Amino acid sequence: MTEKDKTIEIRWHGRGGQGAVTSAELLALAAIEEGKFAQAFPSFGPERRGAPVLVFNRISNVNPIRARVSVTIPDIVVILDPGLLQITDVTSGLKKDGTLVINTPKALVDIKSELSGPWKLAAVNATVIAREMLGVPIVNTTMLGALIKATEIIELESLTEPLKERFGARAKGNIDACRKAYEETQIAELCDIVQKPREVLQAEVLPSWRELLPGCVVTEAGSAKQYRTGDWKSERPVWNHEKCIKCGICYLFCPEGCIGQNEDGYFEANLYYCKGCGICARECWTEAIKMVEEE
Ligand code: SF4
Ligand code: SF4
Repeated sequence: MTEKDKTIEIRWHGRGGQGAVTSAELLALAAIEEGKFAQAFPSFGPERRGAPVLVFNRISNVNPIRARVSVTIPDIVVILDPGLLQITDVTSGLKKDGTLVINTPKALVDIKSELSGPWKLAAVNATVIAREMLGVPIVNTTMLGALIKATEIIELESLTEPLKERFGARAKGNIDACRKAYEETQIAELCDIVQKPREVLQAEVLPSWRELLPGCVVTEAGSAKQYRTGDWKSERPVWNHEKCIKCGICYLFCPEGCIGQNEDGYFEANLYYCKGCGICARECWTEAIKMVEEE
């Protein structure tokens, strides 16, 4: 079997609501338009908006694809949300000479020290591009441009029809975002520099629900406090005390119940649990809260 004949396996890391499933489906449709064989499917747990999500693609030039199992040794990994680096081992199983494509506000030279390995690394600030071209920080179609630039797995033009079919009148913004990411993606061919020791992930530190209460499927009241669900957010609220009149509306509307008053009477969010939904900023009638990108 030649290199050209082999099936390429892709693993997408995103969060619920970021459109990773749509990206993978669009990629598969575009590959099929080119006469290739392709599949796309997600791996869902009990996710909701903001929770980590895995999605998989397999694409082959010549062979029909029968495998339906998750991709554990990918040729390509695509990361839609840089915040996932803190909670997931995104490079797990990535093949030597594979490709890692990441949405990051960092310069390629900085991200290299975090994600070095025997693979090609491609980086783009897809969040900024998506905001500019679509008006929302939903980076799925933008990241398709970065993926194609880094891997040439399909032709960029092959995405046009699937995007038009999926997004109708909104297709142009998505096509433009995809093209801009294609142009702006930076690539480091081989990042096999000395790797920093891997940081311990949250999932490895916290007890699982089984450990919380062995033998019982019901955990004790309050045990959810142990899960730092704030790690899911891509934006966080910042208060401007000059505009705040301490009315408490933000406190009342926060769906996570994570806003409290400090000793000066100003309201602030507990960022361990804030999911960055932006409701507090929308409801604050003095515009004292601004959502800023999470670092
Ligand atoms: S809603 Fe706005 S003005 Fe009212 S307490 Fe919250 S931040 Fe301050
Ligand atoms: S963004 Fe505001 S409303 Fe949403 S979870 Fe955070 S503090 Fe609560």
